[in-house]
Amino acid sequence: MITLKEALTKSRDELELLRFEMESKAKESGLNAYIDFSLAGEGVPILIKDNIQVKGWSITSGSEILQGYVAPYNATVINNLQKKGFTPFGRANMDEFAMGSTTESSFYGVTKNPYGEDRVPGGSSGGSAAAVAGGIAIAALGSDTGGSIRQPASYCGCVGMKPTYGRVSRFGLASYASSLDQIGPITQNVEDASILYDAIASYDEKDSTSSSLELVSTSENLDANRKFTIAVTDNYIAEANPEIQEAYAKTVKVLEELGHTIVHKTMANTKYDIATYYIVATAEATTNLARYDGIRYGKRVEGSNLEETYINTRAQFGDEVKRRIMLGNFVLSSGYYDAYYIKAQKVRHLIRDEFNKIFEEADLILSPVAPTVAPKIGSTQDPLEMYKSDMYTIAINLAGLPAISLPVAKDREGMPIGLQLIGKAFDEQAVFDGALSLEKAVNYTK
Ligand code: GLN
Repeated sequence: MITLKEALTKSRDELELLRFEMESKAKESGLNAYIDFSLAGEGVPILIKDNIQVKGWSITSGSEILQGYVAPYNATVINNLQKKGFTPFGRANMDEFAMGSTTESSFYGVTKNPYGEDRVPGGSSGGSAAAVAGGIAIAALGSDTGGSIRQPASYCGCVGMKPTYGRVSRFGLASYASSLDQIGPITQNVEDASILYDAIASYDEKDSTSSSLELVSTSENLDANRKFTIAVTDNYIAEANPEIQEAYAKTVKVLEELGHTIVHKTMANTKYDIATYYIVATAEATTNLARYDGIRYGKRVEGSNLEETYINTRAQFGDEVKRRIMLGNFVLSSGYYDAYYIKAQKVRHLIRDEFNKIFEEADLILSPVAPTVAPKIGSTQDPLEMYKSDMYTIAINLAGLPAISLPVAKDREGMPIGLQLIGKAFDEQAVFDGALSLEKAVNYTK
């Protein structure tokens, strides 16, 4: 597949042909990465996760409950794309309401990993990552609440980037956990990620958490030769499997050889990440998902009275979504609000402070993306085990920081291993520059 940068040089006719080829290849591939092949205009086709609104397209967040709902307006990122010569092309499969790490909770069935069809692509943006890695999309948009861009990119051997909270408008994104959600690019390489990030990032008065800090093009200023101080957190790495630890150690060496300065740090609060995230995320999800009542959006399952209609309609949520609605209601209930929700908010500050402390000395932090490579389809049965697999990604959302995941190695079975570089808030440039220098040095091939 041609890169995004190359695609920007193609003519209208060439792009049309490319879309046609992409569609037939996607249908043949059996990856189940695309839910459909809608096209919203002309330009370089970008695959869109099924939780981002494109006017006139169905948007379902991978859920049965939103079947039949058509987006009445464009998400701001879609308007931004169209202004820059891109066009939305197709909807990507995902975990229901972006809750999950495998894409197995989708109403449309699981997406397969192009590196092994018995493996999950990761989640929740599994369709986006599998399509880019499988050569059936030039680039895609995903959303990342606790790792959903970076982790599927890592499992599928492509690049995934989560911007600083507030950099990319959430207007028109189906909310999961509003204080954590960010839309970002999933691409074949780091330069494409910076091009797509530049295209979608903007201040947006329709998103009250949007930042008005000046935006400078990252792709025009890309520099693989900048030297950074990069922090490694040795205590934290021990929880990843041995092959990931090995890839991590090798990467640290590569970074040193490139002339970056490595500093060793410990992170003491990481043991609270998962609990904190799953309290904050489920509390916000419960509130956000209350709107799916069968009256306002999507599918309605009638009952003999209003209450029964609510109950019948909401019974269509899948098990993982129901579990999180219950968990969220529990942590917000009057008896437990202080003990769980308020405490989680306090710990969230501690987690953020710990990152800031490291950033007093370092420009970037290197970390694994996940403790394992992509697991086999059907092997993640225990929800708690699944939550634990988010251990390396969720703190970055709690702290609102930018981070990029890029492939650095393969395990013995040929499955991709990704690592992430985490940056200071609003320092996307350092994240891209550091990743570009690493990408050139590791020279990962499919
Ligand atoms: N796996 C995490 C969760 O299930 C993150 C999902 C996401 O980033 N959308 O909540």
